[in-house]
Amino acid sequence: MKICPKCGELYIKGKGALSRRDNKTEICPTCGTREALEDLKNYCERKNKKDANKNI
Ligand SMILES: [Zn+2]
Repeated sequence: MKICPKCGELYIKGKGALSRRDNKTEICPTCGTREALEDLKNYCERKNKKDANKNI
C-alpha cells in the first residue's frame, strides 16, 4: 500500500496515477481523477472565454 501525498489516503501501489501537476508524484486514483477533472474544467473555462471574446 502507498499513501497519497495529496489526500493522505491509502491506495494500492501501482494503481495510483501520476500527478498532472509535476508529472512525477504518484497520487491515488481518486486524486488522479480529480486532477483530470480540474484540468478539463479549466480547459472548458478557457475555451468558453475564448468563444465569448470571439462574439464581441
Ligand atoms: Zn489522493
